Amino acid sequence: MTKNRFEREMQQTFGEKFSKSMEKRILNSYDATQKSFLPDYVLYAENEKDVIDCCKTCSKYKVPIIPRGAGCGFSGGALAIEGGVTLVLDKMNKIEIDPDNLIAIVEPGAITYEIQKEAEKHNLFYPPDPSSLKVSTIGGNIAENAGGPRAVKYGVTGDWVIALEVVLANGEKIKTGRPLKKDVAGYNITNLFVGSEGTLGVITKAYLKLIPKPEGFLSGIFIFDSINNAAKSISTVVSAGLQPSKLEFMDRFSLKALKSAGKNVPENAESILLIEVDGEKESLYTQLERIKTLVKDIGLIDCNIAKDESENERIWELRRSLSPIINLYGNTKINEDVVVPRSKIPELMAFVEDLIEIYSLTIVCFGHAGDGNIHVNFMFDREDKKTVEKVEKAVEQLFKKVVEMGGSISGEHGIGIAKKRFMKYQFSEIEMEILKNIKKVFDPYNIMNPGKIFDIEKV
Ligand SMILES: Cc1cc2nc3c(=O)[nH]c(=O)nc-3n(C[C@H](O)[C@H](O)[C@H](O)COP(=O)(O)OP(=O)(O)OC[C@H]3O[C@@H](n4cnc5c(N)ncnc54)[C@H](O)[C@@H]3O)c2cc1C
Repeated sequence: MTKNRFEREMQQTFGEKFSKSMEKRILNSYDATQKSFLPDYVLYAENEKDVIDCCKTCSKYKVPIIPRGAGCGFSGGALAIEGGVTLVLDKMNKIEIDPDNLIAIVEPGAITYEIQKEAEKHNLFYPPDPSSLKVSTIGGNIAENAGGPRAVKYGVTGDWVIALEVVLANGEKIKTGRPLKKDVAGYNITNLFVGSEGTLGVITKAYLKLIPKPEGFLSGIFIFDSINNAAKSISTVVSAGLQPSKLEFMDRFSLKALKSAGKNVPENAESILLIEVDGEKESLYTQLERIKTLVKDIGLIDCNIAKDESENERIWELRRSLSPIINLYGNTKINEDVVVPRSKIPELMAFVEDLIEIYSLTIVCFGHAGDGNIHVNFMFDREDKKTVEKVEKAVEQLFKKVVEMGGSISGEHGIGIAKKRFMKYQFSEIEMEILKNIKKVFDPYNIMNPGKIFDIEKV
């Protein structure tokens, strides 16, 4: 009965924007984890009022709300694990640039790349660049505090969020600060929403910081004789005070995968670093030459510097293509985005090599090594039960090791459902209690993306 009343009320309010067709539910049941959970309903929000009305009605009937951007998250955050309404926000995609105050005012469904392009029209720059930037939405980026290759110099999404507008589970709208250069009034609620994975409220508008666009960018491929030497070179470059704008790493499995996909990869490479520098045009080549000099005695075999912008872009297309290409190693990928202090990357890589040997697994490592964030991808066939067991053991050991090393179980993909059982390694009981109590303040009935990050005991 209650269900019927809920459906009727939603249909009356939203008409065709609200659907329970199987086709739309299936379409919105996936993300990049390759897991699937059917929502009971899908609502395509077109404006803030839709979000408010949706939250009010869901709150009245205690129906779960699952905010969704492009659905390319790696932690299951956008999956309707307890049913409910998947609230699709990609139609709310307006972008406005305020060049006088160096701010972008964006709706949550705006695609990250489109924000960058709009900013560039004013010679301004929005640096965060998750490799998914051509599809992922800014709402998803903020909710996951997404990083990307440029985090090494410019930080992660959260470093660029000045203020937010958010609709809470009960349909009330709040502002989490003012879009100002300085604002220290009250607690920093903006930061609380960054990385909250849709569990505290629905972001309906974001104010993002912009900076003048650097004059130029130049990249090089640095080829190493061993994974260990590539890993050592990372901290050598950064501790020398050089500031690459991107510093990415790939291991031998990554290179083999790229080669078999027909990509142009240096023959003798065991591991490579892709390094980009930015700044005044005349300084770019010299910056890369300085890096080359620094690492030349740490197993550097060769270094290819891009000759022009299109070659520069090809280097980063190579990096962006990697994540889907490694699927050739198995029909299932568990992509862990662990972080360790940069100086401990060689120790982490040695640990992964041990896991490969002990368990006879294919573990592909690449990623944002400049900020200590390595993607450790366990590749396997899910039908092979023995290997699945081995992967589970190895993943658990990896997380324990990372936390022991002073690192974190997630650098950018978030916890979602994928990592919530490992939260206990990083958070004490009291720390977990604080996280849960914060959620209760914003969402007392636990309807806002329930079951993500942690479970809340049912009352
Ligand atoms: C090939 C590939 C490469 C990737 N590379 C990177 C990378 O370099 N760096 C990185 O950090 N990530 C990367 N990712 C992961 C993913 O792209 C990011 O997590 C991205 O931020 C997800 O955005 P989305 O719009 O797809 O969000 P979704 O997957 O739709 O949602 C992600 C989470 O955000 C919540 N959410 C979405 N919109 C809102 C909103 N408006 N309000 C509140 N909560 C909301 C959802 O509930 C969910 O918990 C990659 C993914 C793929 C497939």
